[in-house]
Amino acid sequence: MKELLRKIPPIHEALETGGFNRFIEINDLSFNQGKELVKESVTSIRKYILEGTWEGPPPDTQGFLDAVFMHAEKIKKQKYSISLHRVINASGTVLHTNLGRARIGAETIEHISSVAGSYNNLEYDIDEGKRGTRHTHAEKFICELTGAEAAMIVNNNAAAVFLILSALAKNKEVIVSRGELVEIGGSFRISSIMEESGAKLVEVGTTNKTHLKDYQGHIVEDTAMIMKVHQSNFVMKGFTSAVESEELAGLSKEYDHVLYYEDLGSGALFDFSQYGIGEEPLISDVIEKGADLVSFSGDKLLGGPQAGIIAGKKEAVDLLKKHQLARVLRVDKMTIAALEMTLLHYLKKEEDKIPAVFSITRPKEDIHQQSIKLVDQLKHRNVSFILELSEGISKVGGGTMPEVELDTYLVSVQHNRVPANEIHKRLRKQDPGVITRIHQDRIFIDLRTVTPEEHDEILEALVELNGQIENDLPFS
Ligand SMILES: *Cc1c(COP(=O)(O)O)cnc(C)c1O
Repeated sequence: MKELLRKIPPIHEALETGGFNRFIEINDLSFNQGKELVKESVTSIRKYILEGTWEGPPPDTQGFLDAVFMHAEKIKKQKYSISLHRVINASGTVLHTNLGRARIGAETIEHISSVAGSYNNLEYDIDEGKRGTRHTHAEKFICELTGAEAAMIVNNNAAAVFLILSALAKNKEVIVSRGELVEIGGSFRISSIMEESGAKLVEVGTTNKTHLKDYQGHIVEDTAMIMKVHQSNFVMKGFTSAVESEELAGLSKEYDHVLYYEDLGSGALFDFSQYGIGEEPLISDVIEKGADLVSFSGDKLLGGPQAGIIAGKKEAVDLLKKHQLARVLRVDKMTIAALEMTLLHYLKKEEDKIPAVFSITRPKEDIHQQSIKLVDQLKHRNVSFILELSEGISKVGGGTMPEVELDTYLVSVQHNRVPANEIHKRLRKQDPGVITRIHQDRIFIDLRTVTPEEHDEILEALVELNGQIENDLPFS
């Protein structure tokens, strides 16, 4: 072993070879960058040799230096690889939580880039020429769209719930129906967040039924709030009843010290039900029914950036803006820019510019045409996949509208020598990765959320994969 290690050529010798010059040229590196990578490469090869796991040529052979440069290239790739990057969502789930929920629209992207790439008036009052507050941005649009008196933005809806409970109900009681003590994916539980905030949870009613009198019977001097939580990600069926927003708002108004707050989860600014899609409450309706406060996510049905939006009575929102936690939970200029432009699309009734709304309401026939095109293009390129077109279902996702089934078309891709999970894996490892659905030993491509540019990329990814399979190429 010692003998082998001694035969490793010194770094300065490796740097004088043509192999090194090619290595830095191909990888666009300076001499010093290349030198550092070669050093790292030799260090790790030394370790492999000691462990007995080095599978390359031994140090005293011709090919050893080439192996050192190849390993250095691998180190460079790993070192400079960006972790968060784009993928193509061909899964058919529009607000795919693992794939970043809502995609941001083109005009919004442009606006984010203009604000982020320049100085801006984030906390500067242009009219007065003095310090302003970031809380004013987007507020006007939210109020206009929801009918609320005031609004503010925090990091996400979980943060909104936490801020509202901490600021307005700490050491006081909050009444919630047992049927609404929900857990949202990724370990967000109403009961736990309530405990963290210092508010005391008062559960009323039963799992399936809660009546107005259940709430009435629990209002005491220490009650700060009646809270309603939208059952975003599940549906209760059968012998059930819950109390309507109006009634709860009315009840809270009988007491000066009791606020009525609804955690809407997603909520909607656009009436999807006019397309026969779901029954998500319109945020403006809930405000009109008398809620003192509502909160909802920016990146669920709204189709904007990750954010939590709080809207409601000015008096309550002002208390939230002044609370210490407002600073802890505040959002960045890029979030505000993205949210404002998305909201402006709603205000101008150009919802088709919001990709989430566009994809959810996209007509089935449109997806049909695109799917036929993809199959034709693939056949034209002589791929050896077995391709089939069938009707299927897309989902809204993001923990919203769990029951809604959006009619779609699916392209299934099979290969008689390669199992579906291998195709699935290879597609997601292409650049850009293509995320498909896998079901009963087939992969399915749902083009609902796929743009024309991405369509071409999927085509090329499949052609490339076909080539890899045909040539039995090892896959990295
Ligand atoms: C999704 C959801 C949340 C959490 O919202 P995020 O924006 O993901 O933090 C809270 N409450 C309800 C009811 C939800 O559906």
